[in-house]
Amino acid sequence: MRDVSKFLSGFRRFQQNYLGEHHDLFDQLVLQGQRPRALMIACCDSRCDPALLTDCDPGDMFVVRNVANLVPPHVQATYFAATTSAIAFAIHNLEVEHVIVMGHAQCGGIRALMENKTPDCNEEELIAKWLGIAEDARRHVLQALPEKPAEVLAHACEQAAILVSLENLMSYPWISQRVHEGRLALHGWYFDMPRGELLQYQPESGSFEVLVPNLEEITG
Ligand SMILES: [Zn+2]
Repeated sequence: MRDVSKFLSGFRRFQQNYLGEHHDLFDQLVLQGQRPRALMIACCDSRCDPALLTDCDPGDMFVVRNVANLVPPHVQATYFAATTSAIAFAIHNLEVEHVIVMGHAQCGGIRALMENKTPDCNEEELIAKWLGIAEDARRHVLQALPEKPAEVLAHACEQAAILVSLENLMSYPWISQRVHEGRLALHGWYFDMPRGELLQYQPESGSFEVLVPNLEEITG
């Protein structure tokens, strides 16, 4: 088993570089507490670190990460309280103005959902129960894209699951009320890892469109 020294030397570099350069920001965050303007709901996947992807500073973004960046519906809120309590805290206590659900390409959780294997141990049961939140996305994709290869289905389901989570967010009365009053905006983002670009769901077209293009396209 490899040791954790990589992380310890990383923390040392963080102290020397980032903390050294941003001590005013940290002093302010310690004295005044956090006041992030956005909640990001992202996947646990080690390749999708929200702060790294958005080049954020500490204090900018409140983050909840779970398998496949899912939001349980309001009726199941207490059942999946780890995620829903973080959402409640961000909206009720921190009064964030934006909620971003960020899905991504090659999501292992969504792949497992699409495979729909019968769980054969307790660990798989736990994962399957959680992924069941996005069962509507799986069904929708199978209906809309019959006979398509697994890759295409997984890609479509990664995006469809983001829409399920956005819909589920609106099932919380204290979220839908803020959205209708214009105090809160919901966003569906998709990190296309192979292409290195960011997409956003556009309700007008009903599809995900490029929000920040691939770097090669920007630089020509
Ligand atoms: Zn994922």
